[in-house]
Amino acid sequence: MKYTAPTKEGYFGKFGGKFVPEILIPALEELEAAYEETLDDPVFQKEYHDLLREYVGRPTKLTYANRLTDHYGKAKIYFKREDLCHTGAHKINNAIGQLLLARKMGKSRIIAETGAGQHGVATATACAKFGFDCVIYMGAEDMERQKLNVERMRLLGAEVRGVHSGSKTLKDATNEAIRDWVTNVENTFYIIGSVVGPHPYPMMTRNFHRVIGEETGEQIRKSEGRDPDYLIACVGGGSNAIGFFYPFIENDMVKMIGVEAAGLGADTDQTAATITKGVPGVLHGSLSYLLQSEEGQIQLAHSVSAGLDYPGIGPEHAHLHDSKRVHYYGVTDEEAMNAVKLVSEKEGIIPAIETAHALAFLEKLMPTTQKDEIVAVNFSGRGDKDMKTISDWFA
Ligand SMILES: *Cc1c(COP(=O)(O)O)cnc(C)c1O
Repeated sequence: MKYTAPTKEGYFGKFGGKFVPEILIPALEELEAAYEETLDDPVFQKEYHDLLREYVGRPTKLTYANRLTDHYGKAKIYFKREDLCHTGAHKINNAIGQLLLARKMGKSRIIAETGAGQHGVATATACAKFGFDCVIYMGAEDMERQKLNVERMRLLGAEVRGVHSGSKTLKDATNEAIRDWVTNVENTFYIIGSVVGPHPYPMMTRNFHRVIGEETGEQIRKSEGRDPDYLIACVGGGSNAIGFFYPFIENDMVKMIGVEAAGLGADTDQTAATITKGVPGVLHGSLSYLLQSEEGQIQLAHSVSAGLDYPGIGPEHAHLHDSKRVHYYGVTDEEAMNAVKLVSEKEGIIPAIETAHALAFLEKLMPTTQKDEIVAVNFSGRGDKDMKTISDWFA
C-alpha cells in the first residue's frame, strides 16, 4: 500500500503536515481523534451513506458518452456524473461528511471559505439541513463575480462575510476563516472545501469523496467487466480528482491524469497551473506546490474558471506527481471553453468550466488511445452557474 499515506504527522511523501498557529494544534488533534472514531462507527457511517443516497442523490450515474466517443473514433468515453449531485457538484459529499463530524464533536457553529461560491453553497446547504449557524468567508472581488452564489448562500440562511484584504479572493478568504477559527476554536468547526489545509483535512476530505471512485469501479466493472484504462479529472485543490482516483490507486493498469487550469498558458503569469509551474512552499496549513514569485510571495492565480483559480494544490497530489503515479497537465482557458461547447452539443450536458478542463484534455489523449480501451472522466459539476461567463466568452 505504497500510496495510502499520510504518516501520523500528516505527510504524503514530503508534502502535507500541520503548519498552523500553536493554539490550533489541540483542535487538530481533537478533530483527528473524533474522525478516527467515525471510521468504524456503524451509526455514523450509516447516517452519512443514507444522506448521500436520500439527500445528495447517490449513487450518481456513469453515462456512456456515445456521440463524443464517435467524434474521436477511438477509446470508449464514460462520464461519472457528479453534476447530478444535489447543488450541482461533488462538493456536497464532503460538506455533509464534515458537518456530521462537527455535530458529533458538539460544535455549534460552522465556518467555511469559498472562492467561486460552490463550497459555500454546499456548506450552507448542509447547515440548513441540520440547523447549524453558518458563516462563509468570501473575497469581496469574488462576491462581485459570483453574485448568484452569494444570493443562494443567503437564502439558505448563511451569513456571507466579505473579505477586503489582499487580492480580495479565495486565498484572503481562507486567511480570514483561519483567523476566525483561532479566535472561536472552542465552539467552531471549520469545514474546508478541498483536499488542502493542515492534517487531517486532506485525508479526511479525500475519504469523504472516495465514494466517487468506488461507485465508478462498481459501475464500470458491471458494464465493461473491468477497470478503465484512463481516469481524467480536473484539479483545483484536487478533491474531485482524488476521490475519483483513490480507489484505483493500487491498480497499476489504470492510468491517471489530473488537469490543471493553465489560464492564458503555463508560460505566462496568468495561470493556475500549480504543479506545472509551482515550487514547494507553505500555504494555509500545509506544504505543497505553490505559485510563488522569485521573492517567495504567493502569486495570484488566473483561470477563466473561478473554481480552479487557487495558487496551491493538495499535498497528496504533490506526492502523486513526484512519485509519478498521476500525471498532471495544463489546459488553457480557450481549450476549456471549446470543450464546454463541444460536450454541450455532442452529449446534451453543459459542463461546469472546471469540468471542461478535464474534458478538453481528451483532445490530446484520444488520438493516442485504442478502440478497445476505456476512458472515464469525472464530470465534477454542471455549468448552469457559469452561463454568464460562457455567453460572454462566445459573444
Ligand atoms: C470546486 C470545484 C472544482 C475544483 O475543486 P477540487 O477540489 O479540485 O475538486 C472542480 N469542479 C467543480 C464543479 C467545482 O465546483
